[in-house]
Amino acid sequence: MAYVISDECIACGACEAACPVGAISEGEGKYQIDPEVCIECGACAATCPVGAPAQE
Ligand code: SF4
Ligand code: SF4
Repeated sequence: MAYVISDECIACGACEAACPVGAISEGEGKYQIDPEVCIECGACAATCPVGAPAQE
């Protein structure tokens, strides 16, 4: 399952830079992950200061 960014996201952008496949982009009020691109590496979850990205 692809990672999903929860509403805890504070839109800092750190995960976008950490994603090796460019699956993360800025959405409305928070960042979002394209499930078709995410390879489930976990880098975004490890980078996020508030623990917003998680696998559903
Ligand atoms: Fe990108 Fe990896 Fe996070 Fe998927 S799990 S969005 S590939 S950093
Ligand atoms: Fe949101 Fe966490 Fe990504 Fe920052 S690192 S944009 S808080 S999901």
